[in-house]
Amino acid sequence: MDYNRIKEKLGILADAAKYDVSCSSSGSKRKNSTKGLGDSSGMGICHSYTDDGRCVSLLKILLTNHCIFDCAYCVTRKSNDIKRAAFKVQEVVDLTISFYRRNYIEGLFLSSGIFKDADYTMERLIQVAKKLRMEENFMAIYT
Ligand code: SF4
Repeated sequence: MDYNRIKEKLGILADAAKYDVSCSSSGSKRKNSTKGLGDSSGMGICHSYTDDGRCVSLLKILLTNHCIFDCAYCVTRKSNDIKRAAFKVQEVVDLTISFYRRNYIEGLFLSSGIFKDADYTMERLIQVAKKLRMEENFMAIYT
């Protein structure tokens, strides 16, 4: 595995996911000015609430920020001049499980730009969920 490339993809695809406002901490950034603890970043690991009131930490990423569409309001639109990346299915599975095992996250929030067509993209999102659930016994996936 090329860890530098995975790290680069993670930076691009976590940043691209921050515009989805479904998580309560998504997009908020706080820099500690006194060199103490407590910086927060607007991307990467976000927080959301379960229906029984628990706050859960989620790895929030896109599968890809390539998109065949050009929705004017969206940073991922095809006409936007941004860095693009795409995770392989197994890369998302491996990242999720390794973050979970380190106790960084409790779940995965996965969204995506539209790669080739909607069915092709959805098949890959489902493959991630299926591998996590069936092969890794991992249950906390939010899409
Ligand atoms: S289809 Fe989705 S990801 Fe693609 S440009 Fe439109 S809103 Fe953005």
